[in-house]
Amino acid sequence: MTKTALKDFEALLERHRLKKTAPRLKVLSMLAAKNVATSQPDLEGVMNDIDRVTLYRILSAFEEKGIIHKVFDLNGTANYAMCSSNCGENHHHDEHLHFNCTSCKNVYCLDDLDLHGIDLPNGFKLDGFTLYATGLCPKCSKAVSKNNSKQFN
Ligand SMILES: [Zn+2]
Ligand SMILES: [Zn+2]
Ligand SMILES: [Zn+2]
Repeated sequence: MTKTALKDFEALLERHRLKKTAPRLKVLSMLAAKNVATSQPDLEGVMNDIDRVTLYRILSAFEEKGIIHKVFDLNGTANYAMCSSNCGENHHHDEHLHFNCTSCKNVYCLDDLDLHGIDLPNGFKLDGFTLYATGLCPKCSKAVSKNNSKQFN
């Protein structure tokens, strides 16, 4: 992922007619810097200069505008990740796989998978879908195989 500059975040807020406030820019740069979703408690920890209500308002405004999307991890904690460019106001297209790592508990947005539409029975009209998977991320599965080979040596 290319590192997004502050002026890009300012432009993003402008495009969504949101005022360019320091907390909003901080939330954006934090979410965009990682390739995994960021949990609400983690955000609260970093954004300790603003209260939880303000943070909550920022997150829900971003979600409404199609800038970020919410995904729950294995503990049921809300995590947030940046949206792809085809999300819009009150309309999300985050139909990618959300991979929950059972070891590090990180939630990965796997955008590059080719997920075909779902064949629904007659009469159902699809609006969107969410896909969750659990398992080990590359980092954690590497650690596991390393430990295993140690045992056998
Ligand atoms: Zn979205
Ligand atoms: Zn992991
Ligand atoms: Zn996602």
